[in-house]
This record gives sequence, C-alpha cells and structure tokens, in this order.
Amino acid sequence: MKLIYRGKAKDVYELDEDKVLIEFRDDLTAGDGAKKATKEGKGQLNAEISAKFMELLSKNGIPTHFIKFEKPNRHVAKKVEIIRVEVICRNFATGSFVRRYPFKDGQELSPHVVEFGFKSDEYHDPMINEDIAMALKLVSSEEEMKEMKRITLKVNDILSEFLLKKGIILVDFKLEFGYTGDGKLILADEISPDTCRFWDAETREIMDKDRFRRGLGDVLHFYREVKRRIEK
Ligand code: UDP
Repeated sequence: MKLIYRGKAKDVYELDEDKVLIEFRDDLTAGDGAKKATKEGKGQLNAEISAKFMELLSKNGIPTHFIKFEKPNRHVAKKVEIIRVEVICRNFATGSFVRRYPFKDGQELSPHVVEFGFKSDEYHDPMINEDIAMALKLVSSEEEMKEMKRITLKVNDILSEFLLKKGIILVDFKLEFGYTGDGKLILADEISPDTCRFWDAETREIMDKDRFRRGLGDVLHFYREVKRRIEK
C-alpha cells in the first residue's frame, strides 16, 4: 500500500482513487511536537473511540469521511483533500484560552465559542478569521467557513449530550474538514482524547491528552475509561 501522509499520530495509505486507510499509531505529541512519547495501545484506543463518535455523528446526519473500523487500529475513510483550517469549539475555558483571555479555568462559556486556526506547525496554528482564510486561499468561499462552523456546532450538540449521559463533560475539541473528489465538504480526521478535552462530570478529573501535556500520568488508564463509558 502506498503511504500518502505521515502525521504526528496517524499514517494514511491510499486504498484506491477515493478511499484511504488510516492507521492510528501509539505516538503522543504535545507543544507542536516538542514533547513526545509512545504509549502502547493508544492507537487502538483512539481508533476505537473515534470510530464510535464518527458512527454516532453519521447516524445524526453529519457528513463524515468515516467508512468502517478495521481491527485493531485502522479506519477506512473517504479520500479527501484536507482543508488547512482547524475548527475549535469550546464549552468551558481552559488551556490556551485562559492564557489568552481573562476567563477563569473551568468557567463555562456562554455562548459556546468556535475559533478557526491555521493548521501550520511553522506558524504554531495561529487563530485566523474568514478574511485571513480567504486571503491565504485555504478555502474558496466565506460560505465554506460558515458551513464548517455550522457543522461544528451541531457536532458539539450531539457529542455533548451523548457524553454527559456517560458522565463526561465535553470541554472543548478540534475538528478538521476536507473536500471529496466531487467537491463536497465533509468532516475528516479523528475525534479522540488526543483532540478533545474530557472531564469527569462528577469529579472534573481530566480524561484526555492534557494528562500527557501536564505530566499527570495514567494517560492510557483514562483513555480506556473514556472508551468503556462510551461503549456502555
Ligand atoms: N487541539 C488539537 N490540536 C491542535 C490544537 C488544539 O487537537 O493542534 C484541541 C485540544 O486537544 C483541545 C482543543 O483543541 O481539546 C483546544 O485546544 P487549546 O487551543 O486550548 O490548545 P492547548 O491548550 O492544547 O495549546
């Protein structure tokens, strides 16, 4: 199989003209790749968790690249051209948000905030708006930015409600979108504890990659707990 992309935590192989195989690796990175580790089993957990979320979203009418899960750590997905815009949605303030603005850590946000970032390690994913995205030719119309925001808010509603029933608060998350060969904008990439913040609804214990970023330990224990709860 032809490797067409090697990211920080996933490898993408070409299956045919319109399908790819995404392999979730055990690598963990933080701070634009400055902090690195490998945790055996992380790739499988993220592939399983992300598959569950993608299926839930598809069932609820969100267009996604996900086709099927393949044991132990792979997704078959529609081939897309990834848009170099990260869409971040925040329900509670934490992380970079409390370093940039005067919010208290853990403060609930009203309204829920959607931010766009330029997907670039070289420029450290700076925040952008519709005009910057257009001027950088990341998207071809302002409508596409609106569409990404609209889908992101719908994803937020679906996932927040689902997770809360499992005793998990969806604090924030990052989405990526792509264009299919016939020009449709669909949700791509992954939705996992590497790309979301999850807090235990009772104790507010951290259940995501912040355990690695902050050196809190027991990273995989909490990824496993997220998987256990969402499969209940
Ligand atoms: N995020 C991500 N990839 C990035 C940047 C952010 O998956 O390149 C996710 C991150 O896991 C969190 C949310 O987006 O769930 C908001 O991240 P934030 O901007 O607070 O960044 P950080 O504090 O991680 O620098």
